[in-house]
Amino acid sequence: MKPAPFEYVRPATVDEALQVLRAHLNDDAKLLAGGQSLVPMMNFRVLQPAIIIDINRLHDLAYIRESDDELLVGAMTRHAALKSSEVIAKHAPMITAAYEHVAHATIRNRGTIGGNLAHADAASEMPAVMCALDATMVLRNHEGGRAVRARDFFLGVFTTALEADELLVEIRIPKRTAGEWCAFEEMNLRKGDFAMAAVAAKLRMWNGRCDDAVVYLTGISDQPVRIERADRKLEGTRLSTEEIAAASEAVVREVEFHSTASVSAAYRKDLTRALIVRALTNARDRSSEDAS
Ligand SMILES: Cc1cc2nc3c(=O)[nH]c(=O)nc-3n(C[C@H](O)[C@H](O)[C@H](O)COP(=O)(O)OP(=O)(O)OC[C@H]3O[C@@H](n4cnc5c(N)ncnc54)[C@H](O)[C@@H]3O)c2cc1C
Repeated sequence: MKPAPFEYVRPATVDEALQVLRAHLNDDAKLLAGGQSLVPMMNFRVLQPAIIIDINRLHDLAYIRESDDELLVGAMTRHAALKSSEVIAKHAPMITAAYEHVAHATIRNRGTIGGNLAHADAASEMPAVMCALDATMVLRNHEGGRAVRARDFFLGVFTTALEADELLVEIRIPKRTAGEWCAFEEMNLRKGDFAMAAVAAKLRMWNGRCDDAVVYLTGISDQPVRIERADRKLEGTRLSTEEIAAASEAVVREVEFHSTASVSAAYRKDLTRALIVRALTNARDRSSEDAS
């Protein structure tokens, strides 16, 4: 398969990229990062952009840095760099855990975190992880920048809060704090496939009790889903088997599950319930191992 003809530009700086983006607002322009989602869609002619703005020369946007309380990740950082980063594993272990399920090594070598989040596939892992970790997206256009919480960024299938003249430049992720435990659980048909269902869970434990719980699901709906009412049920509990089972039931009761070609809605519901139980149990057990 071949893409439809397109014009190609390769800016050397972020400012230049933003100027080009602005100049082509009415021309159906597309940014090219790792190309691992955009190029297949062009090859299948699902997308036929008139102009491609290749941002692979923006090396300034490929970094993993830390401040006192946040990790700062440049949008052009490749999945492989994040997966193997010790800084990420120490301060945001949910990201490392979730990367076990993201695509294959060759795709992770090219694909970028910025492209992944901007693409907003409904079954992608990182959008749910960024929502669970309460990360912030830093967006820029030719006039300046703005910050959008991950929880407000994902609006639907392939739809985000990014405007046509904006570039996602950085993701800011709060560092793990004392008493915080997480787990990421997923099921897919084959390793590296998109999720049939996956769960990103973060708990804050205090004296053996849970004082905050955040559970996001992906692969279920158009964007990452959280049933906050169910999370609240866990607060103040010791996360017994019964309490976890009740919370997972409260989540699946409120979600509308859909059938797809390979997975029925009923199976996806059972699977999600089981993955929530597994994620919460693993996070709880990690916290008690640490306390002992
Ligand atoms: C076989 C296969 C399996 C895969 N499995 C998984 C999986 O299990 N989980 C998963 O999450 N992903 C999976 N992927 C997708 C992969 O993670 C992609 O790398 C990712 O979704 C897109 O990143 P990219 O850098 O390649 O972006 P591109 O494909 O270059 O771009 C994707 C979209 O984002 C826009 N964009 C890119 N960068 C920016 C930016 N900085 N600011 C604004 N817009 C931007 C582009 O214009 C385009 O619309 C898979 C891909 C393949 C081919």
